[in-house]
This record gives sequence, structure tokens and C-alpha cells, in this order.
Amino acid sequence: MKIELNGLSLKELEDLVVELGDKKFRAQQIFNYIHKNKGTSIEDIQTISKELRSKLNEVSFINNVKIYEKYQSEIDDTKKYLYLLNDGNIIEAVAMEYKHGTSICISTQVGCRMNCSFCASTKDGLIRNLTPAEMISEIYTIERDLDKNISNIVLMGSGEPLDNYDNVVKFLKLINDEKGRNISARSITLSTCGVVPKIYDLADEDIPVTLAISLHSAYDEKRKEIMPISKKYSIDEILEACRYYNGKANRRITFEYTLIEGINDSMEDAKKLASLFGDLESHLNLIPLNPIKEYKQINPSDSHIAKFKKQLEKLGVKTTVRREMGRDISASCGQLRRSIIENNNI
Ligand code: SAH
Repeated sequence: MKIELNGLSLKELEDLVVELGDKKFRAQQIFNYIHKNKGTSIEDIQTISKELRSKLNEVSFINNVKIYEKYQSEIDDTKKYLYLLNDGNIIEAVAMEYKHGTSICISTQVGCRMNCSFCASTKDGLIRNLTPAEMISEIYTIERDLDKNISNIVLMGSGEPLDNYDNVVKFLKLINDEKGRNISARSITLSTCGVVPKIYDLADEDIPVTLAISLHSAYDEKRKEIMPISKKYSIDEILEACRYYNGKANRRITFEYTLIEGINDSMEDAKKLASLFGDLESHLNLIPLNPIKEYKQINPSDSHIAKFKKQLEKLGVKTTVRREMGRDISASCGQLRRSIIENNNI
């Protein structure tokens, strides 16, 4: 198996270059080519010798995802990318334009094994983890395509980032490296369904990204029905881990709450939800359910969502409703990938 050059830390690149008989400082030149120039081919690294290029070619490659399809929303400026991976798998990433810059939402796994009932990404289970190089390439491919640097990254596409912990942390450290692309941890959000032990691990990594927790119900019993991970970890355990994370990373925790009509959207639900946070520095993000065909529920009306939000705010919870981006291009998690796979028999 060839090494993925764009998934190596600078230190690992140095070791490789020395092993191949060249000078250590060449590694920084290769690192610049990959992470600053966003280059895609070893042949192209003009700052190193032809000999080193050919040795690198023998043992390694730059793993680039390829744009398979690109969709442009007519409603807002959201763009959705379907990427083809080397092994024929397909993943998706989304670029969203905000006043403060471009945010991109990337996938961390092909599929997912968390089985949340309302989520399209999980319907075929987990196919495989993405490598750090593939996650890096999800970003640089969009940056090359848009011909600009993006300002924020959210790990909220297909997959559960904390179920691919080592690769995700390696990716975070790489993209954050000040000698490379240098995207600050503050500009990155990692969203999890609540894999509690890994929240503690992440807190200890010294890479203080914003943590987002997919909560979706304030009651353990109800949460178990829609999110199987709740059978392992209770809401109390998640909140305890969030307090630890908040203490270490000094970042406000975001809670995501997908509103599903008749399931988790009563005023009682709102009151119970408001009672959870106590003095934990937090922010609540309400997401109207994006209905998928495998889950026979719908989203509440806009007026009901406004009422739910008002109730929470009355009880002191900072709440926003997530602006729906690119609804016309199937923006919700996994939906587009799935419909393409079904239609094209990939
Ligand atoms: N596995 C991670 C990240 C991926 S999902 C997590 O669970 O957080 C990103 C967010 O979209 C999660 O909050 C998820 O619950 C939500 N989501 C998934 N499918 C959805 C749908 N059909 N409608 C609304 N939100 C959805």
C-alpha cells in the first residue's frame, strides 16, 4: 500500500524524506506544495529534485478526491459536491456562503453505523472510514474549485467523526498546522451524536475545536428511540463530558436539536430541554427535520418552530434556528449521495 503523502504530518514527511536519502528541509517544501499551493501531483513539485520525486512516486501518492458532480443552489449560494474516491465510493461535501466567509461541511466516513432513525447517511451502515488525506482533499478540492480560501470547517457531513477518532484528530492537527494550511481550531466545529469517552479524549488533544452535540431529545427514553447511541450513554453523561470539554477547550458548546413534528416538539419538550444546561456555556441550534423517505415523519411548521424557540428563550436558552441552506439541492446529510447511488447503481 502506498503512503498518502497529503495525510502525513510535517514530522512524518521529514522522516520519509530522510529515509529516501534526501535532506530533512525538503519535507517543508513538499508540505508547502501540498498545504499551501494545494498541489495534486508529485510530478509537479518543482522545488525538489527529479530523483526525490521519482523515489516519492514509488512509495507514495497524493490522494485526491475527484469532483463527480457539483450542484449549485438556485435559492442561495450553496454548492454541493459529490466526490468520487479512489475505491469507487462516493461522499459529499457542501460549501455555504455567509457574510463572514465560506464554510464547508465535510464527511468523515463513507456511511455511518450510528443508525439515527431520521438520517439518510446511516441507512446502508458504515462502509469505511475516511483517511486524513481524503478529508484534507475534501477541503482543498473545494478551495481550488472556488479559487478562494474557505474560512470555516464543520465536520457535519456523512459519518460520526468520533467513530473515526484517530483519522479525524490527525486531520484536525494537519489542517491546523501553522506551517501548512493553518486553519485555527476556533474556525472548526465537530458534531457528534454523543460518543462520550471520545469527547474526553478530544478535550485532552489540545486542539480546541467547537464541539456540537446532536441532542434531539431532552429525555433519555425518547432519545433511545431515535438515536441508538443513547442506549450506551445517557444525557447526563453527555452533559458531564461537555462540562469537561468546556473547561479544557474554553469553548461554548453547541447543541443541535432536529425538530420532528409530534415527536420532540411539544412545549414540555422545550421546558425539559431548557432545564438541562444549567450553568454550562451553551448555545442551542434548532434544525427543522429534512424529511427522508426512510423515516415517515415531518418537520413542524415555521410558526410552531418560532413558538418552540420563544419558549426556550423565555427560559434563558440562547437559541437560533438553522437557516436552511440549499434545500433545492438535497442539502441534508447523506440524502444526495444516497439518491445518486440508487439512481446510478454505483
Ligand atoms: N454524526 C454527527 C455528524 C453528522 S450529522 C452527528 O450526529 O452530529 C449532522 C447533523 O444533522 C446532526 O445533528 C444530525 O442529527 C442532523 N441530521 C441528520 N439527518 C437529518 C435530517 N434528515 N433532518 C435534519 N437534521 C438531520
